[in-house]
Amino acid sequence: MWTQYAARGLCRLLPLRCALCGEATDPGARHAMFCEPCDARLTFRAAETHLIGDVRVTTPHVFSGAVRHALHELKFRGNTPLARPLGEALGFALGNVPAGRVWLVPVPLHWRRRWVRGHDQAAALALVAARARPGFRARRVLRRRRPTTSQVGLGSEARGANVRNAFAVRWRYREALAGARVVVVDDVATTGATLKAARDALLRVGVRAVTLAAVAAVLPGSVALARELGDDVSAER
Ligand SMILES: [Zn+2]
Repeated sequence: MWTQYAARGLCRLLPLRCALCGEATDPGARHAMFCEPCDARLTFRAAETHLIGDVRVTTPHVFSGAVRHALHELKFRGNTPLARPLGEALGFALGNVPAGRVWLVPVPLHWRRRWVRGHDQAAALALVAARARPGFRARRVLRRRRPTTSQVGLGSEARGANVRNAFAVRWRYREALAGARVVVVDDVATTGATLKAARDALLRVGVRAVTLAAVAAVLPGSVALARELGDDVSAER
């Protein structure tokens, strides 16, 4: 009994901290886990479609500032509460996807990498984004056939070769996917090579329409910059 009181007392003493910047937060805010400025920066503003490499990618954000920091925290530091605002923004950005049943399919990690990392950021983002509309459902339809080497520091051609044929549709989903509408979901779109490889795997089993989506797009010009800075978040895997 006393432990409950002690725990409650401790919660009052320790102010809640923003999961992104560490500032004290208002417990009554929309996302009590973020301070207001961070919440505003992570919130959906407008859906944009960017030409990344030779594919069109729908995103709510550009890869910079707080969004870039948040994606880094989610992916490499296991800061999983960040999947919520980022996934919600992604869900809103998919407002133009025609109504009806839509599969939200995360770009898969190789099981070994997932095991080491302990979480799968694209799957978490797809789950949150799927709450945006009744017809959406998130399913881990794709599997990675082999672990691809990290994309960090590779040029776009090398990236393409690295991920080509890297994905396959799991057997149990093949029939259900024929004629379906799918949105492929990833955290960051850098060269489009990973999303394109995922799309190709889906088209091979007869999926009717594929939309490519990511929480943030690395815009042309900043790809080189991101690489120069050794920014590992810009790696698609
Ligand atoms: Zn903050």
